[in-house]
Amino acid sequence: MRDVKWGIALSNPDPFPSKIRIFDTTLRDGEQTPGVSLTPENKLRIAKRLDNLGVDVIEAGFAAVSEGEMEAVKLIADAGLQAEICSAARGTRGDIDAVAKSGADSIHLIIPVSDLHIEAKLKKTREQVLQITRDMVKHAKDSGLTVELSAEDATRADREYLKKVFSTGVEAGADRVVACDTVGVLTPERSYDLFRDLRQSLDVPVVSVHCHNDFGMAVANTVAALRAGANQFHATINGLGERAGNASLEEIVVTLHNLYGLKLDIKLQQLYSISQLVSRLTGIYVQPNKAIVGENAFTHESGIHTQGMLAHTSTYEAINPELVGGTRRLASGKHSGSAGVRATLSAMGLTPTEEQFAELFQRVKAAGDKGKIVTDADLLAIAESVLGLSKKKPIQLLEITVVSGNTVTATASVRLKLNGKEVNGAAIGVGPVDAAINAVKKAIQEVEPINLEQYNVKAITGGTDAMVEVMVRMRKGNRTATAMGVREDIVMASMDAVISGMNVLIAYNGNGAPKPS
Ligand code: MN
Repeated sequence: MRDVKWGIALSNPDPFPSKIRIFDTTLRDGEQTPGVSLTPENKLRIAKRLDNLGVDVIEAGFAAVSEGEMEAVKLIADAGLQAEICSAARGTRGDIDAVAKSGADSIHLIIPVSDLHIEAKLKKTREQVLQITRDMVKHAKDSGLTVELSAEDATRADREYLKKVFSTGVEAGADRVVACDTVGVLTPERSYDLFRDLRQSLDVPVVSVHCHNDFGMAVANTVAALRAGANQFHATINGLGERAGNASLEEIVVTLHNLYGLKLDIKLQQLYSISQLVSRLTGIYVQPNKAIVGENAFTHESGIHTQGMLAHTSTYEAINPELVGGTRRLASGKHSGSAGVRATLSAMGLTPTEEQFAELFQRVKAAGDKGKIVTDADLLAIAESVLGLSKKKPIQLLEITVVSGNTVTATASVRLKLNGKEVNGAAIGVGPVDAAINAVKKAIQEVEPINLEQYNVKAITGGTDAMVEVMVRMRKGNRTATAMGVREDIVMASMDAVISGMNVLIAYNGNGAPKPS
């Protein structure tokens, strides 16, 4: 069951628990990210994907906090998903009754346990909190709920008192306990020590870890807790969550799989697409250099790296992008090596002579030296000019009309030339840019199914008349192409970028992205 290739050989190989449960809290703790608010429908969309991914528990929300949250938990609880559906609650009858009413299978009952929280926040004593724990766990069990008893701020609480709260809860019927590193102050060593102690002193089937990333150690602390015997972890997609976020689900599962050789009941190849969906629906971008799912996680530009990559992908990749449903990309720029540029050109269907290549390669480097990002569309334009090819633009924009405003749905219609033939498309969108891109996609979709994979925009100068720069990445099957558009008008800049990206993908009928062995 273990197939570690270059994982660290441990001098003290404590086994991990045989079954590690995954409790996803993207829709509860993740949604508490500042600026994020998901509608019940969008929560359901994410819940369905999490279910398909294979998590054991989906924390769907906090039923008592609003009508919308109640509706979301209900919607997800009624969706017939495989995963257990959970709702968070404070230690009050009202909160517990709301969870019971929502139809959730389980309750994540949060009880503060540090003196700071007990005295400053609750204005109660330790004894009173023990009583609350006993009464509320009983009430939740009597309401027919599976009880996950969570100790808030557990890592700043008195250790003996923490264990007392847990044993009191377990006696009252709690099914699982969670020690929360609410403000992210654990280190891997302290995490190991805490969870070893809890595992040895408590008689409960599930001990869970819940980490925050304030010092960037949430994933390391989670893995340390699991090594110490915790058999469930809380995590979120993209590491969303309050402040610096929660432990990132994708980082934990790929670490356990690749570095420790554990087999998890998770469909790893879905991680990239679910990360994209969560990013899109929450509006929180994934940082480009984020592990596992970041835009640059599998992108190579420097000559030394691309050359190594083309010889053998493992030279500069610890993770095969296909494992998580990602794509390897070779980018062109001043750090590029000839092998990488040649591979990208060949994927576009172009094979320059040695002499042409030398000229072309020099132009790519020169553009990079001037501080220019060399997109695939730029590379194609340079290649066409050096190779003396007539500029091949399979798609030409003839006309576009966009209507938007506060009383109408944004609507766009386009007239294009596709391989010399006129085609039309009309579509709606959340705004004018979205509508315009949808209309183009619709016009060409039967002949050329191409999707927009990434869209970034920035204003180059200040003011409402600023030049706007739009960068896109388009995808057709397993090929991708980057392109840029710069205009004063954001819709037109977007059209330029999207259409030139599409043109790269259609122009020379390349067959396959650069696919190093
Ligand atoms: Mn939390």
